[in-house]
Amino acid sequence: MKNFCIALILVVTASFAGLNQAAEAVATKAIVGGTVVDLDGTAPIRDAVILIEGEKIVAIGSAADVPVPDAAQLIDASGAWLIPGLMNMHLHLGLILPGKLEAELAKETEGELTLRMAANARDILHAGVTTIRLTGEQRHGDLALKKAISKGQAIGPRIFSSGEALAITGGHGSESNVTYSDGPYELIKAARKEISAGASWVKILISGGIATNGGDIAEALMTLEEIEAVVDAAHRFGARVAAHSGSSAATTIAIDAGIDSIEHGYFLDRKVLKKMKKHGTWLVPTIVVSQPATQPFFEKIGVPEWYLKRRDSVGKEHWRALEMAIEEGVNIALGTDQLPSEPNDGTTATVREAQYYVEAGMTPLQALRAATIQPARMLGADDRIGSLEVGKFADIIAVDGDPTKDIKALRNILFVMKGGEVYNDLLSK
Ligand SMILES: [Zn+2]
Repeated sequence: MKNFCIALILVVTASFAGLNQAAEAVATKAIVGGTVVDLDGTAPIRDAVILIEGEKIVAIGSAADVPVPDAAQLIDASGAWLIPGLMNMHLHLGLILPGKLEAELAKETEGELTLRMAANARDILHAGVTTIRLTGEQRHGDLALKKAISKGQAIGPRIFSSGEALAITGGHGSESNVTYSDGPYELIKAARKEISAGASWVKILISGGIATNGGDIAEALMTLEEIEAVVDAAHRFGARVAAHSGSSAATTIAIDAGIDSIEHGYFLDRKVLKKMKKHGTWLVPTIVVSQPATQPFFEKIGVPEWYLKRRDSVGKEHWRALEMAIEEGVNIALGTDQLPSEPNDGTTATVREAQYYVEAGMTPLQALRAATIQPARMLGADDRIGSLEVGKFADIIAVDGDPTKDIKALRNILFVMKGGEVYNDLLSK
């Protein structure tokens, strides 16, 4: 039996080698016939050709200017609009909210958690989101998954992760009677531990939140010295720092400490938004969680009454903060705090979030940028992803309308490519 297995493996390996050679011969792909949207707001390229070799875009232009090699594999995008893959900058692949889900997953093992994350990652990519930033996960399943995706062992978007979030004793994300990291030295150590495990961001929790009872949402819980210490430690390793913050007080301190991004910003006032604008601090609004479109989701997962009340109480102010942030021209990168592919109001949480940005005052083009090139800039990865340009990864999606005219075009995603590989294709159907 053993010999038979070895023989079978040899046959399978041999045929895979054959396939690989064949794949190399047709490594060039050409997406033809579609309209490429210009993220700078200039005219789109109609009847475009995008040539892809391996993982990267090697040519892009009109059919008249870019000849298609005979051997290229053709992808007909006639009638479709081509944009960069969407990005979602605030989510938790292993998210567990209070209620039914929490009880169900109470005894989840490390292996089960990582496999659940992998399933979520696959769904996210199929929904057109090709890059995600994880803002607090458990037990480093996220970092294992990131490695597996980059090795081709699992399917999912590009992952930038902060590993486990840094909580302070008594603060958001803490359990009562448990000691966390307090003071600059402990926080520096905790930040370095995440970075050494593979995190490229550090997530700190500097005010209270909706989902836990640790401190008031509007308070500044972490001190200037603590935040400064984390930011300095992270920046020395090339990592960036994201702060969960609902409050103007906490955000003001964090900006002074050199924070890179503020998450949620439920109660931000105009004064602090002006300060964010001045310092170029990023805001990741996650507006979708506090707005009515998400109500059926919370009912479905059975969150308790107290959670819904707490959420409604912040909804109006959160909305006003987002409107003011748009008015002030604060850097905004899209994030949902829900799974990007989560069904929401007839679409996904990611697309609904972008739609909310338009309802709050962005132009459709600004909202599209907040879902593509702006997150790439926030990640410091805009030389590789975030727009359709020669030399960048071929992370491309197709939609059935012009999203710079109507952001709702993102509701119909017809095609998803990441790094030159096709993961979803309804173009020919
Ligand atoms: Zn979150």
